[in-house]
Amino acid sequence: MSSCGDALQDFSRPLTPSCGQEAVSALCEAYGLSNPVFGVDLIDKYMARLANYLLAVHGISGSGSPRFAFLLDAIKTLDPNFVPNYENRDEALKVFNPRHEILMLAVKQWVAKKLVFYRKDDLYSDTALFDLASFSFTPKDGGFIDVSSTWVKNYIKHVTLRVSRGGKLVSIKRSLHKQVASFVYAALLEASILTCGDYSFDSVQTWVPRFIRPATGDSKQDLYHLSLHSFGLAFDVNPSRNKRGMAGDVATLTGPLNLIPGNIIESWGFGWGARWGSVGDPGRDPMHFQMYNPHHFLPVIV
Ligand SMILES: [Zn+2]
Repeated sequence: MSSCGDALQDFSRPLTPSCGQEAVSALCEAYGLSNPVFGVDLIDKYMARLANYLLAVHGISGSGSPRFAFLLDAIKTLDPNFVPNYENRDEALKVFNPRHEILMLAVKQWVAKKLVFYRKDDLYSDTALFDLASFSFTPKDGGFIDVSSTWVKNYIKHVTLRVSRGGKLVSIKRSLHKQVASFVYAALLEASILTCGDYSFDSVQTWVPRFIRPATGDSKQDLYHLSLHSFGLAFDVNPSRNKRGMAGDVATLTGPLNLIPGNIIESWGFGWGARWGSVGDPGRDPMHFQMYNPHHFLPVIV
């Protein structure tokens, strides 16, 4: 496995110089972090300063406003030692300037590049970055499967994600493939901050071992293609509001900055089911985000 792949495994492994290490190091230095790794500490500090920047630069102010309360509360949650200084625009610009956004963009581009690389990778070989070859399962009723416990132990990581819900930043525990967990964390947190709490992540579904669900109205279960949810490489946002064929609120609702939550998640390199058809098309799946794969699914490995 490459060193870039190692870095993807969890929150604590360093990125190599060719994989955006300079960007990560510069951000760590700016935020007083001694460990130059792309981890929860770095993401939290970045997002706390981003929230402060939004309050100051975009004028999301007024202590009575829900957006103001959300961002201020988020700052305190993400970095309790950070002193918010949103009242002074110049000071806010000093602690979070456009350079930080550029640095984080460099990290995102590295992630996206890695995810594009997986498209060319042999997902079924022993050396694949996402080790799916050792994956084995037993079909169960209703399109679900039982996954071998060894694979689960080696590849599924139980993580705490942070999302906006009902105007508050909350922690939720979910299970994901260890190689994408940090990027799901970053993507959902950034979507929460940049929508200033307006978008509520009421339901986030991640690892569900199963075959691809049949299209709405189709009673026949597909028993040939495993969903990427089986590997913890996909997640669904608010299924009831983002069903197949729907426009979906994750693709339409915007906060004060006119940013669509789905686009923010996508910017971290995730493929998005809203791209698989226009409104009314049963292929459109706005709730669904996944490690990018050109076929949207993996065939059953026998
Ligand atoms: Zn899904």
